[in-house]
Amino acid sequence: MSGTPPARLIDGAAVAAELRREVKEGVARLKADRGLVPGLAVVLVGEDPASEVYVRSKVRETGEAGMASAAVRLPATASEAEVVGEVARLSADPAVHGILVQMPLPAHIDPARVLDALAPEKDVDGLTPASAGRLFLGRPGFVPCTPLGCRILIAGIRGQSLAGLRAVVLGRSILVGRPLGALLLQSDATVTMAHSRTGDLEGLARSADILVAAVGRPGFVRGSWIKPGATVVDVGINRVPSETPGKTRLVGDVAFDEAAQVAGAITPVPKGVGPMTVACLLANTLKAAVVAGGAPVESYLPMSVRASS
Ligand code: NAP
Repeated sequence: MSGTPPARLIDGAAVAAELRREVKEGVARLKADRGLVPGLAVVLVGEDPASEVYVRSKVRETGEAGMASAAVRLPATASEAEVVGEVARLSADPAVHGILVQMPLPAHIDPARVLDALAPEKDVDGLTPASAGRLFLGRPGFVPCTPLGCRILIAGIRGQSLAGLRAVVLGRSILVGRPLGALLLQSDATVTMAHSRTGDLEGLARSADILVAAVGRPGFVRGSWIKPGATVVDVGINRVPSETPGKTRLVGDVAFDEAAQVAGAITPVPKGVGPMTVACLLANTLKAAVVAGGAPVESYLPMSVRASS
């Protein structure tokens, strides 16, 4: 299928750019009002090339937003105790407001032990048990960046209240599916979480007013799975061979061309959910600094983030 899709394209890149602009303004105000510069530490263990790219872009974007940031690098041979010690040291450092541990960690290090050493008030990735607990209890805290980005994009289409709407989340990972399910429930959607053991995924998906795909399988969700007019959020980032021999390209978990014929609104891949993730990390880091400085979040944090977390 080709031509202009009837679905409204959700321009995550544009929403993320606006969010970054608002965060930058908040950072400048915080500095002017209180002399406080938000600081992010990104902990990278080992030399995984994909992680290197992510860490570099996080450090660059924090700098562009006027924040201080540092990549804290440890060798792949670092022991679990050394990584835990580093995270504990950063947790105690008053110049560091946010800490992000780049995953995956080398196999000999238990991520749970490392996250347990991370001060909850600095957990800008929202991955500690304290953050997960607050989210599930509906208390204010740090929401993981990708689900927060999805929630903001959904709010742009469906508004803040999702009362009366059915949401189906495909994927139940700690990083994406579960926290997003909790956020949607918090907004009064009727939420179903689906995963690899769910029966009749297609029928379930077709019941959704809001369908989120976070499974990590290219083109998994077909056009026939989509309820006409549904809002479709494609979290998947999958690298597949491109038409040019030897090259690859990124595709989502949704068969975009088919889905765009049926959906009411849909995120593309790339330039959909992806850019929102780093923008939300910046917002969470600003929030951590604002809270640490005893400043009112409503004066510094973008409205879209406050409403969705
Ligand atoms: P994950 O940890 O591998 O989880 C995948 C989930 O999908 C699991 O819950 C799994 O079910 C479910 N699943 C796998 N195959 C399935 C099937 N055939 N039918 C139904 N459910 C199935 O992945 P993730 O970290 O959530 O990431 C998901 C995708 O999002 C990946 O493509 C990833 O690259 C992408 N991602 C994007 C961003 C971004 O910034 N845009 C951020 C994070 C992740 P079980 O639990 O039963 O195994």
